[in-house]
Amino acid sequence: MNLVELLINLVLAIPMAIWFYKDARARDYMWYFWVFVPLILIFSSTIITIVLLLILLVCYIMLRPKGNLFKCPHCQKAVLEELFVCPFCRKNAKRECLNCHEPVPWEADQCPKCKSRSLTKE
Ligand SMILES: [Zn+2]
Ligand SMILES: [Zn+2]
Repeated sequence: MNLVELLINLVLAIPMAIWFYKDARARDYMWYFWVFVPLILIFSSTIITIVLLLILLVCYIMLRPKGNLFKCPHCQKAVLEELFVCPFCRKNAKRECLNCHEPVPWEADQCPKCKSRSLTKE
């Protein structure tokens, strides 16, 4: 490994670490781990780094919590659908139905399951 290779590796690893940070945080999934790993892979030759980064990307996509993202009603950041509490601002991103205790979308005014209108306010 020489300096040029190290720079190329950095250019490859940094966007990946940033993408991992955004996606893993939105899914509340060990983002510190996924940001850290690409950055320790830069200390090998470029070809090995590329192969390891690709393997890492495939592993991440297989392992990450599946599901669509929705916008947090408080901080507007993308958050995994099934999370109740926003991983960014730590506020409730959903309401809870006081009748059947189902999570209810923030903008809904009644529970989609039992049609109750008694929902938590925040
Ligand atoms: Zn939020
Ligand atoms: Zn309900």
